Amino acid sequence: MCPKCGGPSKDGGLCGKCLVGSVPWFTCDHRVIITRCGGCGSLKTAAGWGDSSREREDLEEDAAISAVKFHQDVKKPLVTVKLDHLSINRTYADLVINGTMYDEPLEGYYSLEVVWQNESCDRCNRQHGSYYEGIVQIRAEERKATVQEQEEAQRIAVQVENDMQKEGERLSFICRFDEGREGLDIVVGSQALGELISREITRRLGGRVTLHPTLVGEKNGQKLYRITYLVRLPWLQRGDVIAVRNTYGEILHSEGRTLTYLDLKTGLPRTIPESTPARLIANVREADIFSVIYRDGKMLGILDPISGKTEEINQVTWRNPDVGDTVKIIRDNERAIVV
Ligand SMILES: [Zn+2]
Ligand SMILES: [Zn+2]
Repeated sequence: MCPKCGGPSKDGGLCGKCLVGSVPWFTCDHRVIITRCGGCGSLKTAAGWGDSSREREDLEEDAAISAVKFHQDVKKPLVTVKLDHLSINRTYADLVINGTMYDEPLEGYYSLEVVWQNESCDRCNRQHGSYYEGIVQIRAEERKATVQEQEEAQRIAVQVENDMQKEGERLSFICRFDEGREGLDIVVGSQALGELISREITRRLGGRVTLHPTLVGEKNGQKLYRITYLVRLPWLQRGDVIAVRNTYGEILHSEGRTLTYLDLKTGLPRTIPESTPARLIANVREADIFSVIYRDGKMLGILDPISGKTEEINQVTWRNPDVGDTVKIIRDNERAIVV
């Protein structure tokens, strides 16, 4: 017998009903606060700031459920939430709370408030405070970096930034792009980002990176540096046509200290050390487009559609253009080179 109510008891102690009545089986907060960044929408959790793409309802439901704390002996806890939006930063949550304790099924009700609070996150704070840790400078060897190269560098930088943000590297953001007379400067919020961007640019466009740290201060006894990642793109770039080793070559790519070009006589790719003597003629972007109007043995008759002039060139065996096709021509003095 239960000593309190006289009902049946398993072991002579308090019965389930009396045990449950003697302790609260759950507690709940009156309000929960969700802190979000007004600038970028990041959410603050116990673990710190993080990006989130979850829906408002989803987050509110989770927050409401997290407000309920069950007694440790409660089995099969379940919270059902009904949300009622009151305003942009205030929602009521009606909870139905279920569980079993000492074999007694339990049901309770609770209403609480979910409040949205705005705060500026770590990343936005840094961005507004014009904090930065490095600059990636895009320059080229003995010439100016072209518009195309600068645009490509910018695209690569944004891609690297997106990848790092997705991996949760929140503070790896690009502060800004500065287009100066010398070339493009990419100002970055973290050295990890500066390092990756400069590496990726040279991987795709060739050239090399040198690091130049500047001491900017000291924090907690540690020296703070800003790093300039100086990217020197190679003298020759993709699409450049060069006179090299008694032939003409069109640069395909440049990696580290080697160049790969398409031999315009044979149509075969060749890789040479960057230091091989070569003469730059022009880039294929500057080529004129001619139409092939006749073929005479090993000669091709081509027409400049703009000037209306015609001329004859040797057939390009590896590419084999035919009457009706177009060919791109670059000139080395008087000589026409098909690229
Ligand atoms: Zn009892
Ligand atoms: Zn933010």
